[in-house]
Amino acid sequence: MSIVQLVDVHKTYPLGKTEVQAVKGVTFTIEKGDFVSIAGPSGSGKSTILNMIGCIDTATSGQVLINDVDTAGLTDRQITKLRHEVLGFIFQSFNLIPVLSVFENVEFPLLLGKDAPSRSERYRWVEFLIEDVGLSKWKDHKPNELSGGQRQRVAIARALATKPSIVMADEPTANLDSVTSQAIIELMKKMNRELETTFIFSTHDPDIIEIADHVIKLHDGQVLEDYKTDEVERGLGALTQDKEMA
Ligand code: ADP
Ligand code: MG
Repeated sequence: MSIVQLVDVHKTYPLGKTEVQAVKGVTFTIEKGDFVSIAGPSGSGKSTILNMIGCIDTATSGQVLINDVDTAGLTDRQITKLRHEVLGFIFQSFNLIPVLSVFENVEFPLLLGKDAPSRSERYRWVEFLIEDVGLSKWKDHKPNELSGGQRQRVAIARALATKPSIVMADEPTANLDSVTSQAIIELMKKMNRELETTFIFSTHDPDIIEIADHVIKLHDGQVLEDYKTDEVERGLGALTQDKEMA
């Protein structure tokens, strides 16, 4: 089942008297439960695409569908609801609240929703998430007492708190060393398997691109390659593209 679909999406930004074509006719489908990397060099359009999927920005033309609904047709209220109930976000700069403990940071999104879970349910779920990302010992600490990798673990738990069906992460490892980067992507993959959450992360780091099971490579605002890594292992290669050409 497709959870995110882009159909011939273009995005143009005005730049003085001219314009920048950031995304030029991008089409791809992400299935529910996929673990996707949007890969490409700086300026290739990764953030623009993630921002359109996250409803932070809108396409100039083409369609961005979430759960088969064209996001262009949604009201501001529906977008707010979608962002709160369907989407979770992880940022390269972690964006934790410095005065709150690890536990409180993860709990925070659960205090905002209308149908917030009961206190005991909330505690159980937050404890579970913190344990799952390996931070039980740190739950009463503040973000500035943690390493970058540990902060990103908190951000992963926080993004999952509201049980979103899609977690978006724009270059989540940009501020981490290579060993920590791999560990963070592996943790996201573990959470993807356990909770069946769809993850979409962007990166320009070749070492972590292939940890994903679905790779969408961009170049200059266009899709260069779109393939499933398990199919590469089985020797099937870039299925999507072959199918389109057939
Ligand atoms: P990436 O995330 O892969 O580095 P971006 O999506 O940020 O790429 O940018 C794609 C292109 O669009 C780049 O040429 C960038 O300079 C341009 N761009 C991105 N955002 C804006 C903006 N707000 N105004 C003008 N140009 C932009
Ligand atoms: Mg970017």
